[in-house]
Amino acid sequence: MAERLTDPARRGDDLGEAALRPTRLAEFVGQAQAKENLAVFVEAARARGEALDHVLLHGPPGLGKTTLAQIIARELGVGFRATSGPVIQRAGDLAAILTNLQPRDVLFIDEIHRLQPSVEEVLYPAMEDFRLDLIIGEGPAARTVRIDLPPFTLVGATTRSGLVSTPLRDRFGIPLRLAFYTPEELVAIVRRGAALLDLDLAEDGAAEIARRSRGTPRIAGRLLRRVRDFTTVAGTARVDRAAADAALTRLEVDQRGLDSMDRRYLRLIAERHGGGPVGVETLAAALAEPRDSLEDVVEPYLIQEGFVLRTPRGRVLGEAGWRHLGLAPPAGLQP
Ligand code: ADP
Repeated sequence: MAERLTDPARRGDDLGEAALRPTRLAEFVGQAQAKENLAVFVEAARARGEALDHVLLHGPPGLGKTTLAQIIARELGVGFRATSGPVIQRAGDLAAILTNLQPRDVLFIDEIHRLQPSVEEVLYPAMEDFRLDLIIGEGPAARTVRIDLPPFTLVGATTRSGLVSTPLRDRFGIPLRLAFYTPEELVAIVRRGAALLDLDLAEDGAAEIARRSRGTPRIAGRLLRRVRDFTTVAGTARVDRAAADAALTRLEVDQRGLDSMDRRYLRLIAERHGGGPVGVETLAAALAEPRDSLEDVVEPYLIQEGFVLRTPRGRVLGEAGWRHLGLAPPAGLQP
């Protein structure tokens, strides 16, 4: 995928991101319902001295799944181990991780929908009964060895809950869905970030960055750091709306937070496909973008904001999409 400033899945260059990460539930902005439920379950597990039930977090990239997993461990007062679905190649890799856990530790598995089926099989009894059934040897000499594990909490994260197998999903006692953040919540996140970065940010400057962050804290943090770069170089003391706007415009992030990839995607549907419907595969091929990244990264926000509609026959440009491109929606399009 081409480098995008507003790609919520891109993490590599985000050295500054760790500094902005909230470490306690009370500092975690938004997601009120998920937070309230978690607070109760964490307190109950602590009071009983038990491991917290397994938690499945799902939602688009950059909304705080990894952050919440770390917060859960900290609030429980236990250790935290992190890995991801594609990294665990063999059942033995998972066994090595599980047997090294301390009682009640949190094990975080990102992209859990990408676990190998053979690894998932080992995970089921581990989650349910805290035991491993490993097959040692091959052919007639093969035998099963049972290993008891310390009780632990698995926190799984996925951008695609539809791709998590049913038996795996059923083993999570606490499923939590993270939604895009409201502009007010993003303002709070941006202001908190500015304070941590020692940046003098005016109220309207914070609102401008928040409005252009695609409902996503990771993007809000990234835009905030880039705006700081521009204003540092320009010698701007206080970042107000005009300063934020100038920086974001130079970064090609438009008024609604869309970047050049989003606009290419919208224009493709409008200009080459008459507004759709057009299949996602066709769009992916024309944009030279993997289908997964269109579905996981580009589309969720465009769909939530009504720029695009997902229909059984393919993608259709919504009224907001036409207007954003400065084009009149065709007659008969449902608003
Ligand atoms: P995910 O795992 O869902 O892709 P992360 O947990 O890595 O997302 O979050 C990305 C960044 O966004 C974090 O570094 C953190 O600084 C910030 N962030 C996420 N959620 C919140 C929140 N609720 N409040 C404040 N900052 C947040």
